[in-house]
Amino acid sequence: MEGKRVLVVEDEPDIGRLLIMHLKDRGIDCQHVQDGRRALVELRRAHWDLVILDLRLNGVDGLEICRTLRQEGNALPVLMLTAKSSELDRVLGLEIGADDYVTKPFSVVEVMARVHALLRRVDLDRQKANGSASLRIGNIWIDEARRRVEVHSKTIELTPKEFDLLLFFACAPGQVFKRVQLLDQVWGFGYEGYEHTVNSHINRLRSKLAQADGDIEYIITVWGVGYKFNDTLSLEHVA
Ligand code: CA
Repeated sequence: MEGKRVLVVEDEPDIGRLLIMHLKDRGIDCQHVQDGRRALVELRRAHWDLVILDLRLNGVDGLEICRTLRQEGNALPVLMLTAKSSELDRVLGLEIGADDYVTKPFSVVEVMARVHALLRRVDLDRQKANGSASLRIGNIWIDEARRRVEVHSKTIELTPKEFDLLLFFACAPGQVFKRVQLLDQVWGFGYEGYEHTVNSHINRLRSKLAQADGDIEYIITVWGVGYKFNDTLSLEHVA
């Protein structure tokens, strides 16, 4: 994790300091801001590999920051810190495009494990950057190692979860997945009651695909069941 840059956005000074201390211990280049507006300035000003974002902040809150980033096409990994274990917070966090969350009070070990997992994806992008296979389906080209997607040869920006969803679907055209199955496979938890999280991620992914390629409907709703990838398209592995 050395050399990675992590921004910590947390209005409780003690929690912020604790996170910074542990990140620094792991050789991570980090910075702490307490205020939502300041966070947006920092996120736009410099390159970051990850943001640890408190949900409840004064002024611009964590949800607003996350939403703004995604609207601006910024796919930076977001680890959300949520107050208590309120179900609403969890769902909202995932719906607006956060990649993972930890509920307060948290153990620092847990947070560092999540940070490590998210940063490892950034590493994979860089390490596997040479000579790996990619997939082509319809007008979509997916470079799994670099986690890059092109449609009609133009790169589209996807959040890590949107990318995971697309890859998961594209590898099995025609196979119908229930929402709870997608939660299980892509998010790693198959709790019932979180299905609308899946819907909102799929809607965002669809709208990005539709913007890039209006001719093909890639992800198809199977009413009363879930979703499937368009089975008139065939998957091609490209060396
Ligand atoms: Ca707070």
